[in-house]
Amino acid sequence: MDKLDIAIIGAGVVGLAIACELALKTNKTIAVIDGNRRYGQEVSSRNSEVIHSGVYYSPDMLKSRLCIKGNKLMYEFCDKNKILHRRCGKLIISVDDRSEDNLDGLYTQVKLKGIKVMPLSKKEAEVMEPEIHTNSALLFPDSGTVDVHNFMQALYYKGRQAGVYYLFDSTVKGAAFTGNHYQLETNKEVIEAETVINSAGLGSDAVASMLGIDAQQTGYKLHFCKGEYFQINRRLNINKLIYPLPGRNSLGIHLSYDSQQRLRLGPNAFYVNHIDYAVNDSHKEEFFEAVRSYLPNLRLDDLNPDFAGIRPKLQAPGEDMRDFVIVDEKERGFPGWINLIGIESPGLTSSLAIAEYVEHLCQ
Ligand SMILES: Cc1cc2nc3c(=O)[nH]c(=O)nc-3n(C[C@H](O)[C@H](O)[C@H](O)COP(=O)(O)OP(=O)(O)OC[C@H]3O[C@@H](n4cnc5c(N)ncnc54)[C@H](O)[C@@H]3O)c2cc1C
Repeated sequence: MDKLDIAIIGAGVVGLAIACELALKTNKTIAVIDGNRRYGQEVSSRNSEVIHSGVYYSPDMLKSRLCIKGNKLMYEFCDKNKILHRRCGKLIISVDDRSEDNLDGLYTQVKLKGIKVMPLSKKEAEVMEPEIHTNSALLFPDSGTVDVHNFMQALYYKGRQAGVYYLFDSTVKGAAFTGNHYQLETNKEVIEAETVINSAGLGSDAVASMLGIDAQQTGYKLHFCKGEYFQINRRLNINKLIYPLPGRNSLGIHLSYDSQQRLRLGPNAFYVNHIDYAVNDSHKEEFFEAVRSYLPNLRLDDLNPDFAGIRPKLQAPGEDMRDFVIVDEKERGFPGWINLIGIESPGLTSSLAIAEYVEHLCQ
């Protein structure tokens, strides 16, 4: 292959969105390289498919800015391209007096960020969702769900139509800077590119270190945090996404739907050393206990193991939340090498905004 203008490592939702944005806005030659046989086989196909409204992040974080912008871009893209999605809204509920105070605090923070939110009394919340027991709730009308497979397919075909090359079954095993361009060694060939965008999800810290960027020193080392889901095999009359108040490492086990409108619970959150997508059936009770106080009609045998995903977290267990890293590594002597590291939630919601952000970095 001739020298490329831009090589993107990773055909997850973020790499696909970046390729599409760059192909539509520039005349550059672009290839997306992925070790799997097709796009979107890792983090991007193993998540809650929720379009977040940006509730949980402090306003100075990229996570906040890109999620709020991404939410708007996502609905526009889905409407325009007929992607399956629902702006169904989300309730964050309080189940006891202590969480009521936290809900008040969250309401004030969210209002200050300009996110649409409506406080609901117990009666209002229970009229809206009769199966849910709560003391009070916050309604976020701009939260929703998207069929992520449908979304990635649209990005892939748009990119293809705009001339992007997709190189599957191509794992990047080495990277070098000649002083003027980059050489990426894959299991098949050596690919040369002026600009490299490392959007390798769970492998992004390893890819950065191939170039000589020390993951420990830079704080780029990723920690894998697993999240499992259980499906609810019973019809319950629930229309909105239902979330508890967020915990330190996750948004808490919540209630959402898949694209067939089947209800599911999840994800939980626990750190693991290896990538393994099995769901541990014995965690069923943990899920049941997490929701039984607000979903009294649920029975333990309504739950069946569904699937699991792994979050690429920058924070180790017990540490505070870290922001997305999206940076051109010119300060480290690698101009035109753009690292995206720690793209956990809300990475799906933010994907189109991340793509715009990276396109600016490439100018
Ligand atoms: C349990 C869970 C729930 C989530 N829920 C939500 C949600 O509801 N809403 C939301 O907005 N976000 C959510 N997220 C986050 C969202 O899924 C991710 O931020 C997003 O999918 C990340 O996409 P990505 O393209 O960066 O990574 P990926 O989809 O993992 O893509 C990276 C790609 O890089 C490839 N790759 C890696 N190393 C190499 C290499 N050396 N050579 C070649 N290719 C390589 C991989 O094969 C992979 O295809 C959730 C995440 C998890 C885990």
